[in-house]
Amino acid sequence: MPNKKSINVFWFRRDLRLYDNAGFYRALKSGKPVLPVFIFDTVILDKLDDQDDSRVTFIYRCLAEMDKQLKNSGSSVLIKNTSPENAWKEILEEYDVDTVFTNQDYEPYAKERDAAIAQILAGKNSMFCTFKDQVIFDRDEVTKPDGQPYTVFTPYKRKWLEKLNSFYLKAYPTEKYFANLLQIKLQFPTLQSIGFTESSLPIPDQEYKSIIADYAKTRDFPAMDGTSRISHHLRFGTVSIRELASEASKSAEKTWLNELIWRDFYAMVLWHFPQTKDHAYKTDFEKVEWRNNDQEFEAWCKGETGYPLVDAGMRQLNTIGWMHNRLRMVTASFLSKDLLIDWRWGEHYFSRKLLDYDMASNVGGWQWAAGTGTDAAPFFRIFSPEAQTKRFDPKMEYIKKWVPEVDDPLKYPKPIVDHKEARDRCLKAFKEALNK
Ligand code: FAD
Repeated sequence: MPNKKSINVFWFRRDLRLYDNAGFYRALKSGKPVLPVFIFDTVILDKLDDQDDSRVTFIYRCLAEMDKQLKNSGSSVLIKNTSPENAWKEILEEYDVDTVFTNQDYEPYAKERDAAIAQILAGKNSMFCTFKDQVIFDRDEVTKPDGQPYTVFTPYKRKWLEKLNSFYLKAYPTEKYFANLLQIKLQFPTLQSIGFTESSLPIPDQEYKSIIADYAKTRDFPAMDGTSRISHHLRFGTVSIRELASEASKSAEKTWLNELIWRDFYAMVLWHFPQTKDHAYKTDFEKVEWRNNDQEFEAWCKGETGYPLVDAGMRQLNTIGWMHNRLRMVTASFLSKDLLIDWRWGEHYFSRKLLDYDMASNVGGWQWAAGTGTDAAPFFRIFSPEAQTKRFDPKMEYIKKWVPEVDDPLKYPKPIVDHKEARDRCLKAFKEALNK
């Protein structure tokens, strides 16, 4: 390709921001003009149920905003809408690519995809370089003294905090190097041309600082606006985890920082134990005989179990694509323990509905609730929906918001199971699995 100018590429994936972006910064400082690229991956998109998907809309809007900013610097983002393999073949036809820079993605599919792309690039003498951006510490950065991964959160957190210093929180000042972007004017596609329609789901903005100081007092009460609602921004990287962790570390109140550490923990667990995406970490619990009753599953999905707190959670999820953490725990426990339905069914349902769906945290949360995971609630600790209501929604404000007919026996269903009986049935099934 002697007539083509050699360039570097930055491949955006779950890091949809131009500021404080580790891999993008390295690309901009690499000495060659940088072409920003994003691929609407048809391997993933073809599996979505609907053309109206709030996640696709969110990604699309973020990219449109980034493209606008890039155009101010004379550049554009190149959008591809195909499988990553095809996309890279096309890009390598069009451009003489020296190196592809990108940020590390830890999910099993992403690991396989990246290995395949690195090979395609190597065939054209192009390099593939990845950087840590999505978490503060990844893979083997926080391990037990013998180098093994932690599988219990508390000692992991202690080590994480010991290791944290300003070096890990430092922002990458990408904006100083925007002059190194490839000067190119590309047309930005419409959402329809990618095969989707604009979703009407409201997407909250990213104000989070005001909740940190009172978080420990407010975070468990779903009727309050006591959590940050920033999870989808973290999921798609429209905010920087370094910025958030630094803000959280400055506060005297450290509970919110603790939650960000859980996020790192689950990403690390999925990296080391990729099989946990669909297998119990505690292998004995692979032998649980789930009941897997279809009607009961449907009632759970729709929020019609007759347990008001569970139903409120599921309706919140179905309506706004987000559910309060307390409710994620309650509904997951109810499905896997009271209904004795395989936690993978619930994990899959959440994956379809959550705007913030993140495999590591979702699988981690589900295995925690089902009692099968690394740092799980023991299988015999089973949430009582009534006790949870008394503690966390005593005036039933949250319940009444999502289940307004709760007090009307003609409209609201009777409980589909008796909690006490379901609890005994669950204990028996889990004990049998341990003794098999
Ligand atoms: P905040 O309470 O303000 O917390 C701030 C951030 O910390 C969150 O945005 C999130 O990135 C992180 N965080 C908080 N709690 C956890 C946790 N328990 N585990 C890991 N990270 C945490 N979180 C997701 O981002 N995606 C998921 O798909 C997901 N699925 C879950 C499934 C189940 C069954 C459970 C019990 C939890 C799940 N969580 C998931 C974790 C948690 O419920 C959400 O991160 C949180 O409710 C998001 O709301 P927020 O941004 O207001 O959180």
